[in-house]
Amino acid sequence: MSQNHWVYTFGGGRAEGNARMKELLGGKGANLAEMTNLGVRVPPGFTLTTEACRQFMRTGELPGEVRPQVERALRLLEEWQGCRFGDNANPLLVSVRSGAAKSMPGMMDTVLNLGLNDATVAGLKARSGNGRFAFDCYRRFVQMYGDVVLGLKPEGDEEDPFEELLTQRKAARGVVSDVDLTEDDLRELVGAFKQRIAERTGHPYPQDPMEQLWGAILAVFRSWNNPRAISYRRIYKLSELGGTAVNVQAMVFGNLGTDCATGVAFTRDPSTGEATFFGEFLPNAQGEDVVAGIRTPIPIGRSQETAGKSLEETMPKAYAELTEVYRRLEKHYADMQDLEFTIQNGVLYLLQTRTGKRTGQAAVRIAVEMVDEGLIDEKTAVLRVDPEAIVQILAPAFDPQEKRSAIAAGRLLAKGLPAGPGAASGRVVLSAEKALDMVKNKNERVLLVRTETSPEDIAGMEVAEGILTARGGMTSHAAVVARGMGKSCVAGCTALEVDASRKEVRAGGKVIKQGDYLSIDGSTGEVLLGEIPTSPSEIIRALVEGSVEIEASPATRRFQRLLSWADQYRTLRVRTNADQPLDARVARSLGAEGIGLCRTEHMFFGGDRITAVREMILAEDATQRARALDKLLPMQREDFVGIFRAMEGLPVTIRLLDPPLHEFLPHDRAALERVAVEMKVPVERLRQQVEQLSEFNPMLGHRGCRLGITHPEIYGMQVRAIFEAASDLALAGIAVEPEVMIPLVGTVEEIRATAKQVRDIASVVLAERGAVVPYLVGTMIEVPRACLVADQIAAEAEFFSFGTNDLTQMTFGFSRDDAAKFLDAYLREGILAADPFQSLDVEGVGQLVRLAAERGRAARSGIKLGICGEHGGDPASVRFFHRAGLDYVSCSPYRVPIARLAAAQEAIGRPAETGA
Ligand code: PEP
Ligand code: MG
Repeated sequence: MSQNHWVYTFGGGRAEGNARMKELLGGKGANLAEMTNLGVRVPPGFTLTTEACRQFMRTGELPGEVRPQVERALRLLEEWQGCRFGDNANPLLVSVRSGAAKSMPGMMDTVLNLGLNDATVAGLKARSGNGRFAFDCYRRFVQMYGDVVLGLKPEGDEEDPFEELLTQRKAARGVVSDVDLTEDDLRELVGAFKQRIAERTGHPYPQDPMEQLWGAILAVFRSWNNPRAISYRRIYKLSELGGTAVNVQAMVFGNLGTDCATGVAFTRDPSTGEATFFGEFLPNAQGEDVVAGIRTPIPIGRSQETAGKSLEETMPKAYAELTEVYRRLEKHYADMQDLEFTIQNGVLYLLQTRTGKRTGQAAVRIAVEMVDEGLIDEKTAVLRVDPEAIVQILAPAFDPQEKRSAIAAGRLLAKGLPAGPGAASGRVVLSAEKALDMVKNKNERVLLVRTETSPEDIAGMEVAEGILTARGGMTSHAAVVARGMGKSCVAGCTALEVDASRKEVRAGGKVIKQGDYLSIDGSTGEVLLGEIPTSPSEIIRALVEGSVEIEASPATRRFQRLLSWADQYRTLRVRTNADQPLDARVARSLGAEGIGLCRTEHMFFGGDRITAVREMILAEDATQRARALDKLLPMQREDFVGIFRAMEGLPVTIRLLDPPLHEFLPHDRAALERVAVEMKVPVERLRQQVEQLSEFNPMLGHRGCRLGITHPEIYGMQVRAIFEAASDLALAGIAVEPEVMIPLVGTVEEIRATAKQVRDIASVVLAERGAVVPYLVGTMIEVPRACLVADQIAAEAEFFSFGTNDLTQMTFGFSRDDAAKFLDAYLREGILAADPFQSLDVEGVGQLVRLAAERGRAARSGIKLGICGEHGGDPASVRFFHRAGLDYVSCSPYRVPIARLAAAQEAIGRPAETGA
């Protein structure tokens, strides 16, 4: 019987795996194999496959073949390293790390220095000639083993049992830093740690290295299902990932003396995308020290600030090799890499390479510049940028004037590292729980302020406007996670003292209480007191406002180039939802190819219109109503003139009135009284009319075309206004393409009657004015019945526009206005994978869309098909609409570039692989 391959080795210059085996070996394992094959110096080791993890999770035990394969790999590792696992004189020590197919930074657990016990520590001491080092390793190992493998790591704010002992020891010795503890201190601490393990678990700490190894391997497999890993997968929609691999690797030491170091580097700047090698390191430190943000690391490259301490200056040889390696790796992978390295006695080892997470700005810059450098082609560049990254790029920054005056007024509190894009203002909260409470229950905007963040904070980070930490560098947990989420973040702001017990933050002699406002600028690292208004991003200023010259804005040029490549590939058109000329102009400057939905009801609320609208609703007879409509007509005409002008030469879909009439009337007593006075009617009569119009289920009530059929004069006025405006402009030489849209149609009779009215009035008006205006009459498809009888409806309608908001509401039977109350629980419990009002339910609602599109096309071959619900700006939904063969999507103005990019990616045919 052939054996399954559960364990893949890498070392001695060759590896059994390679970079294409990410699903099986995890990202880390696959890349360790690839680097080994490329001849990059990597500590040798082996990878247990994700399949082993899946088997373990399914059955609760490992397949029988795994143990002998691990033992064989271990023997090979001993051979390569020239030492033995568990040997008292010359022990092999290993690290055990997780690594899923997609990186989940900080989510899974790691154990270092495994193989140490009371006997082998003596061997390590003898071999390194450094007793303090040996016991420091032992101390760290027992602590990690206790926390991770034996599960002593506390949840939430409770103190780690080992950190508590460490702090006590430092206090007793009158020192502040771990580095100041002696070999004897550390030896005694190891004893105290082991005792604590025995007390808490009822078992002695395991001295047998093989028992340690299996304990650690299984703990990594189990950590796949720990709550923070689960919540990470939920937030990043990685639910399809199947298990983690385990990497067992020979230890190399960055803490063996002053010619040792450990660090993290990016082949390009992950915040800006600039092509400069960018990284941080800690001399004489081990493993997780850099990422954990315990000490603030030093930049690797020389600059004024490094004052002779950079890696380039202190270890020039290793630095030169690192530079050579990073260039080689970036070229090999043709993408920005995030590297982890360790230098042991001057020798450089690469511990990891992976595609680096980056901000939206950086994603665009890297993609465009790599095309210019000939590393990738335009198609790849389009695939490289996650459409959501565009959200970050267009995110607001502080209003420069407001910020300047805040600084002039002495409100600059401190400065940290610029770790995440954009600006944020919010009320200070000191814990993730508080963040959730303030946002969800009190509807506040918050800034999460922590000494440092940990994976437990992720839910709080998700809801916060921004994140501010007192410790940690550009590669700390806070910085990495914030960048991935596109959140503003300032890290390592050492001037801050975060006092959780007094619920306050102190800095520069000032005290900021939880609940006070703070503002952070994630692009400069500034922390400011109070609230500061934000203003549009540079690209918005250049493209939309025109307050910055496009040519003078390289970021805007790159953005435009990337999107112009996207436009070459996409076949799906992108329109916008806009009801004001200003929105229409914004959307057009961001690439909108027309208006897909102009909601005319929004025009009814402005200025003195609402009074005329109320007069129309409250009219007692036809004459009164006609008088009110006569007042509204010129106003509506002006509205349409504005919109048509802004969209000159592009189609404009105007939807006739949709909401129930009572939405335009006042409801509470005070408003009723005010309106009664304004309209010169008795309060009581007004109240009765409001009551008459009110409905139990307004969303299923007297709205849409139902209103058009019962009140034809309202639609009549609107259609007249549309065609008068269109005629006037056409006669003035301005190209207009109106598309009149009837909402909420469910039966063919509804569209037949309403469309006839539209065409009749259009003919009259065009004849009156002597104008020729090409136009279409179509319908929204937002009632499930309309999907089923789409063939009949298509006989009357020249276009369909899917109203996926209502279609989702009616297909699920979820109220659009109330679903939030239970959707949270549905998402938490995994009953739904995503909010169907944000991302289209392809399985259910998607079927209706496909069905209606097919039946509509069968009945009218040239029928135009679009979608104008919120889903038009959601990348996953846009991909679906491309596959369903629609002609266009329509979304809010700032989402237009997102939809352009998503449509191009789907047309190219592969999902985005990397990027922010
Ligand atoms: C819809 O239902 O998807 C739609 C676009 O219309 P509204 O949101 O105005 O109901
Ligand atoms: Mg609707």
